[in-house]
Amino acid sequence: MKREFAVIGLGRFGGSVCRELSSEGMDVLAIDTIESKINEYRHIASHAVIADATDEKVLKELGIRNIDHVIVAIGEDIQASILTTLMLKELGIKKITVKAQNDYHEKVLNKIGADQVIHPERDMGRKIAHSIISNNILDHLELSDDHSIVEIKAGTKLVGKSLTELDIRARFGCNVVAIKSGEANEINVSPLATEVIEDEDVLVIIGADKDISRFEKQLV
Ligand code: ATP
Ligand code: ATP
Ligand code: CA
Repeated sequence: MKREFAVIGLGRFGGSVCRELSSEGMDVLAIDTIESKINEYRHIASHAVIADATDEKVLKELGIRNIDHVIVAIGEDIQASILTTLMLKELGIKKITVKAQNDYHEKVLNKIGADQVIHPERDMGRKIAHSIISNNILDHLELSDDHSIVEIKAGTKLVGKSLTELDIRARFGCNVVAIKSGEANEINVSPLATEVIEDEDVLVIIGADKDISRFEKQLV
């Protein structure tokens, strides 16, 4: 299914979103104030235009109203990012995703009705920090301020035991939602209580951060 997207701001982040959407066959309108950026993306995006997104008249002329999902990836210029988001909101865009530069920026974006606020540097930093703390934490996805999904490589304390033996839900309040097995790259998305964990298995665990952390301390 082809959907219409617009990416405003073609820095490293916006540029990467634009490339990926385009390579997945999506229809993307790329917007930036800098001509060289537009020249770079002319052959990547379906349409690429030099425009200042803070100019409401320009946004209307570009037919932005007909676009389902707009990604605002204007970085340093926080004022431009906020103003653009506000105008997109007023124009009735169904879904607006905005890259925030800092926590204050994020707060304002949420307040004015951005549907999704992302903070790639902060989130990637957190992920990396978790994997640095423990070599066994392969990935970390924040679900809310205090709940996450983590991917944990099974160590000696887990291998050879079943979920029942480990009694994970009862002891830690966490659920093992999937087990990826090393050799065949298979994924079992609803492991039975009798499932025995094997060497090189990766457990996908959902739970409160404090519970996951207890689990990590005792069993990872
Ligand atoms: P990244 O870290 O993703 O590389 P950044 O956060 O450093 O990017 P900037 O480089 O400040 O972000 O901005 C991203 C892009 O947004 C730039 O290419 C810039 O030209 C563009 N941009 C800034 N203001 C506007 C605007 N008003 N309208 C359209 N594009 C804009
Ligand atoms: P519960 O009362 O905790 O739901 P149960 O009576 O349904 O358990 P089983 O499903 O056989 O019993 O599981 C026994 C125990 O094994 C559970 O209490 C739980 O601690 C652990 N367990 C089973 N499946 C999982 C899972 N997917 N994730 C975490 N722990 C599990
Ligand atoms: Ca940056």
